[in-house]
Amino acid sequence: MKTKKIPFRNCIICGERKPKKEMVRIVRTPNQEVELDYTGKKSGRGAYICIKKECIEKAKKTDKLKDALRIEVPPEIYIELENLLTTGGEADGENKGI
Ligand SMILES: [Zn+2]
Repeated sequence: MKTKKIPFRNCIICGERKPKKEMVRIVRTPNQEVELDYTGKKSGRGAYICIKKECIEKAKKTDKLKDALRIEVPPEIYIELENLLTTGGEADGENKGI
């Protein structure tokens, strides 16, 4: 039995507590840029959201991300988030073309 501690974070969109690996961190860097932080180690103000269609779409429709980071979120960030959905985080061996 593994007793490894899994870090949990709250999604800023749905408020659910989930293991960090099921989420993505969006960070406002000290240079006032918004970036996706896959390592969770970038410095700056961060917010977590689930890698889930519902949450990413909601994030797009609301200003929650902007409120959490206190900065305007560029559309590229949402595109990058949506790309995460299609890649699914882990390769499932199947590479579906569009
Ligand atoms: Zn969520």
